[in-house]
Order: sequence, then structure tokens, then C-alpha cells
Amino acid sequence: MVVAEVPITTHAVLGLRCRICETRYPIELAHVCEECFGPLEVEYDYEALRRVVTHESIAAGPRTIWRYRPLLPVTGATLVDLGAGYTPLLRADNLARAVGLDDLYIKNDCVNPTYSFKDRVVAVAASQALALGIETLACASTGNLAAATAAAAAKAGLPCYVLVPSNLERSKIINMGVYGANVVLVDGNYDDVNRLCSEVADAYGWGFVNVNLRPFYAEGSKTLAYEVAEALDWQAPDHVVVPIASGAQLVKINKGFGELIHLGLISGPTPRVSGAQAAGCAPVATAYREGRDEITPVKPFTIAKSLAIGNPADGEFALSVVRSTGGAIDAASDPEIIEGIRLLAQTEGIFAETAGGVTVAVLKKLVASGAIKRGERTVVYVTGNGLKTPDAVADSLAEPLRVPASLDRFQEALAARSLTTA
Ligand SMILES: *Cc1c(COP(=O)(O)O)cnc(C)c1O
Ligand SMILES: [Zn+2]
Repeated sequence: MVVAEVPITTHAVLGLRCRICETRYPIELAHVCEECFGPLEVEYDYEALRRVVTHESIAAGPRTIWRYRPLLPVTGATLVDLGAGYTPLLRADNLARAVGLDDLYIKNDCVNPTYSFKDRVVAVAASQALALGIETLACASTGNLAAATAAAAAKAGLPCYVLVPSNLERSKIINMGVYGANVVLVDGNYDDVNRLCSEVADAYGWGFVNVNLRPFYAEGSKTLAYEVAEALDWQAPDHVVVPIASGAQLVKINKGFGELIHLGLISGPTPRVSGAQAAGCAPVATAYREGRDEITPVKPFTIAKSLAIGNPADGEFALSVVRSTGGAIDAASDPEIIEGIRLLAQTEGIFAETAGGVTVAVLKKLVASGAIKRGERTVVYVTGNGLKTPDAVADSLAEPLRVPASLDRFQEALAARSLTTA
């Protein structure tokens, strides 16, 4: 098989634990508590981790998420390694000026192996799937997860089924098909796909990275916190802005910063965590605005399809993280999303997909409303590549000039263009 063997003899994973009633379970293909139906989470031996994880041990690791391997829940020796993670943290002074901040960074996760942050979570889930002896990999996806899962399955030599809403962008369907996965278009929205996948998981025993492997999968997002802290010379930023689909990424970024403090690798406090949704699918932003603890599911209608989860599994946990850290949540309309994509591209030279447009547009709103203060060191997570959703901005760009190959005609065309744009 595939993959990198790493010389690690121990791991610090103790087992699974219910996030609601704290009942403990062994490490297995399980994600729901048998006592209360709450979600399960991986539990670690932090005392053991404190002895082995240091700034130096991390610096000596590979330039991928696996430099944080002891903090990730893989209990076998084999890693599915496409080189996910260790993406750039870029200073964003131009965007900072445009939105009214003094100290802004972009975590550019557009440059992962399949061009979204989903490669992080899938790397962990696929590696743990091998440890659990799973023979078929699968997922319920709004698009990006399917490409990441299909690529990891190809690398691991496992058959793969990806189930997605049938109205997905054509470019994303091609992108998941090319790796040889079985692509299943389901008539319905993501929440319908997800429900079907729970039934398929039970009926077939496949490893669905975000269903029955979810406790392992979700932990991969902690690396988005670790990398930011490491790139800032082991300091936490003051404020982070994170897109919300299921809410898992936001919750795990907060957990990642908390673990670094707990392990003595950074000093506190954890950053304020703010969330970004598309107005056409904003169940968490709505609950936040109305001061409610429960999320009311919605039917998504937005160009930000990668964030279009109407009934988010981690929505209430995300709400609680935002409130307890002093962050905020806001939502961006489709025109604001397009404007956000263009603003990021035209100030910082980064072409993000619609989810990135959501996050940048919401950043702007949160600064304008005073939820993010000018002096706060802020990190914006840009989680997917613009070449995944080029149609979102295609109609909003200036027409290219078209000229014969002649200097005179070129000069004429240029003069005409500057007249029309003056
Ligand atoms: C899936 C996804 C997210 C959100 O992830 P959740 O953990 O479900 O909240 C954000 N950005 C992009 C590009 C995604 O594909
Ligand atoms: Zn429970």
C-alpha cells in the first residue's frame, strides 16, 4: 500500500467519549452515544502528550499536518499522506486597509492537495479507517469533501463512494470523478444526502469519513489552529474568523488553541472565535442574532454550496464557542459573497471559492460593526480554491480586450478602454 510508515510506537488516544453525558467507549467505528444519542469525541491522555510534544518535536516533523501527529487520533502505524496542511499564513496589509484593521493575516488553505481544507480532516479519517480495517471509504459531501475523500481513497488503494446533491457545480463533479471514485448524485439537498448516508453506513459497513468516522475526521481541523500558532512564533492571535457549514471546523479550531494552552505550548487566552455563514443558509447566524441556543434548520439557497448545510451537526457547539470566547456570527448575501471573492483577489492575489467570499465579506461586516476591533491581531481562514467555483464571479469581471496582433490596434483599443472606464 501507499503511504508513509512513521516510526511512532505509542499514541495518546484513550478512547471515545460522549460530548453530552461523557459515557466512554473504546476506539471503534462509532459516532453516537448509546445512552443519549449525543455525538462522540476522541479523548486523549494529555499528561502523556505533555511529556512528548514540544516546540522542538513539532519543528522536527514533516511539513504537513503530520508534524502534529501525536495530537491526532490515528491509532495505527500507516498514514494516508497526500501532503495536506502546512499551508501559508500570509500577512494581508492590503485587505487590512480595505476593511479597517491594523494586523490581519490570511490562512490560505486554498493550496491543499485537492484545493480545500477538507484534505486535513480526510487525511485523519482515512488513516484511522486503515487502522480500523475498513475496506471501503465513503462520504456525504457538499462537494469539496468528495474530492478530498476520493483522492485519499485512491492513495490508500480503497474503493470509494461519494454521495452529493445532484445540483452541484459541474467542475466539482469532475473533480471528484477523476480520482476513480463512484460518484452518486442524490436528488435532494445536503441534509437529504446525509440522512441517506447514515442508512447506507449501517447497511454496508462502509467508512463514511464524516458520518461513522466523524469523531476522528473532525479532529483534523485542530491543525488549522496549531499551524497558525506555530507560524506566529507560538502565539495565539486575538481573533479568528471561520466559515460555518456543519460548524465542526470552528469548534475544532477553538479546541486546537485550547489544547496548545493546556500543553504549555502557547500562553492564553484562546482567540475570540467569530463565524461566517451565507445568508441563504444561515441557521447558526440566525440563532446567534436572535439570542437563542437552539438552531432551527433551514432549506439552503445560496451560491456558497460548500457551506450549504441547513441542519448543522455542530451548530449548537459552534454557537457556544462563539459566545464563550466573545466572538460574533454574521451572514453574507450572494452579491456580498461575490464582492468578497473579488476583494480578496484584488487586494491579496488569492482566488478563493464562494466559502472564502463568505468569510471575507463577514470579516468586513464584523469590523464595521465593531465586533472585531481595529487593533486585534486577526486571522481569516480561507478554506477553498476559486478554481472550484469560477462561475460565481465569471459574470462580474471586466470583458477582456480583444485585438489583432498589431501595435496600432492595441493602442487604439487601450485608448478606447480608458475612455469607457474613465
Ligand atoms: C466544508 C467546508 C467548510 C466548513 O466546514 P464545517 O466543518 O462543516 O463547518 C468551510 N469551507 C469549505 C471550503 C468547505 O468545503
Ligand atoms: Zn451520551
